[in-house]
Amino acid sequence: MSEALEFYPRLITPATPLRAVNTSGLIEISNVSKYFGKHKALDDITLTLKPGSVTVILGPSGSGKSTLLRAINHLERVDEGFIRIDGDYIGYRQKGDNLYELKEQEILKQRIGVGYVFQNFNLFPHLSVIENIIEAPLVHKIYSSRQQTIEVALSLLDTVGLRHKADAYPRHLSGGQQQRIAIARALALKPKVMLFDEPTSALDPELVGEVLDVIKNLSQSGVTLVVVTHEIGFAREVADQMIFMVDGQVVESGDAQTLLAHPRHQRTRNFLNKVL
Ligand code: ADP
Ligand code: MG
Repeated sequence: MSEALEFYPRLITPATPLRAVNTSGLIEISNVSKYFGKHKALDDITLTLKPGSVTVILGPSGSGKSTLLRAINHLERVDEGFIRIDGDYIGYRQKGDNLYELKEQEILKQRIGVGYVFQNFNLFPHLSVIENIIEAPLVHKIYSSRQQTIEVALSLLDTVGLRHKADAYPRHLSGGQQQRIAIARALALKPKVMLFDEPTSALDPELVGEVLDVIKNLSQSGVTLVVVTHEIGFAREVADQMIFMVDGQVVESGDAQTLLAHPRHQRTRNFLNKVL
């Protein structure tokens, strides 16, 4: 039996409640597990991230933080459980009690609503800043015309303080500037969710603040943010919810102030002692 047939279609458990249609950016992660061979990278994760909230994920290297973010975008297919955004199954379509994996084109369409910002910026090196930003919205026809797409891109460049770099190429920008462009590029697709995977860990220390400031501004925008970062000051100031992961499990979660001031688990305390 092929691998695809072993896994799909999958029975949905537990039963799925109906929900209001006016929710936006609600992320539901239900009993999600993910294996790489025998290694369980995600171990029965259940989390609810409210629309417009900011969640910071902390945890040692290898604890599954990136795998969880990638699963939210269906860059990794989960083996058990499911993830929904505003009631839509990520990577799947529901038919009766079964989930059927979406086709590649449908997955790409679903990803439009979920922005992803990587540690290493991942700008297209051969495209100018403005071309980097307008490329995907043009392909997906997000705006009514090329002119409108350019106007939106310029206003996003204003938001991240880099309008004057519209015609520059990534190699001429600092890491902090490149990351701010990467954030503008993700926003140009009008996402309801933005995922950040250690967005400042490749930056020189003096450039970290300018990128965190952009993310902080976004926290007021109504977009649901999920940020993997070890920047504790940022977490304390901006996070509504903080999650601490070890070995693929969420060992602790709660509001950032409480978790940082009174970590309940020894592993959280050990980790915080190292990064604080
Ligand atoms: P983190 O982001 O917290 O450092 P990851 O999510 O990258 O952790 O990885 C979690 C675990 O899964 C690690 O043990 C890692 O080696 C393993 N892993 C991640 N991606 C793959 C992959 N594509 N193939 C095999 N193992 C992987
Ligand atoms: Mg990682």
